[in-house]
Amino acid sequence: MINVRELHKNFGHVEVLKGINIDVQEGEVVAIIGPSGSGKSTLLRCLNLLETPTSGEIIFEGNVLNDKKTNINLHRQKMGMVFQSFNLFPHKTVLDNLTMTPLLLKKGNKADLEAFGLELLDKVGLRDKADRYPSQLSGGQKQRVAIARALAMNPDVMLFDEPTSALDPEVVGDVLAVMKSLAREGMTMVVVTHEMGFAREVADRVIFMDKGIVQEEGPPAQIFGNPQNERTQSFLSKVL
Ligand code: ADP
Ligand code: MG
Repeated sequence: MINVRELHKNFGHVEVLKGINIDVQEGEVVAIIGPSGSGKSTLLRCLNLLETPTSGEIIFEGNVLNDKKTNINLHRQKMGMVFQSFNLFPHKTVLDNLTMTPLLLKKGNKADLEAFGLELLDKVGLRDKADRYPSQLSGGQKQRVAIARALAMNPDVMLFDEPTSALDPEVVGDVLAVMKSLAREGMTMVVVTHEMGFAREVADRVIFMDKGIVQEEGPPAQIFGNPQNERTQSFLSKVL
């Protein structure tokens, strides 16, 4: 579904991504772990061209996204993104947050989109908050709304950038549970996370990044149980 080929990204003279090659298969859950500043967010943002690659290719469903001829907006709609900060529309109700963009893009009529929105709120356990405003929700609830909002576009893949890092510890589990159920339903997911338990339990594959390079990747049992790379070993010894 996603192929990253020799991706380089510079900010000014600083090379943040130094030749990344990654493939994500349909239905796969890929966790990206690594120290702060290693380029995880930049990589994720390059996947849907929130950042423009300096060189290399991002191929999504067979289309080279960073080709001038590609209509990026069309493909970006198929990639749901959830950030550390929830970025909900503050002056819209929870349900309107879900239906606004699909309505704008004429993805369906209002009644159908609202019915779908309510279904998604049910899925994230927030059906009863449909008429509330974001300011009336806890951080964990906001993040679950943000996930539902991304799902309202019927994406083919969901990209998560540390979705639980800004949350109080007692609500992290609610958000991880929603992500886990999405994974079980077969959603393709790329998840940058500090939640090693989640990566170990839910991911099909773990990618360890450091210094703008994929240092090691493999199934969770291998990365967590028998890491080969010295940097992976050192990182895991600090976070586990
Ligand atoms: P991570 O998500 O792994 O913590 P990031 O991708 O956020 O790492 O950042 C990698 C490096 O790129 C850091 O040194 C960061 O300061 C730098 N960086 C990220 N975004 C920008 C930007 N917009 N402009 C300049 N430097 C940036
Ligand atoms: Mg980051």
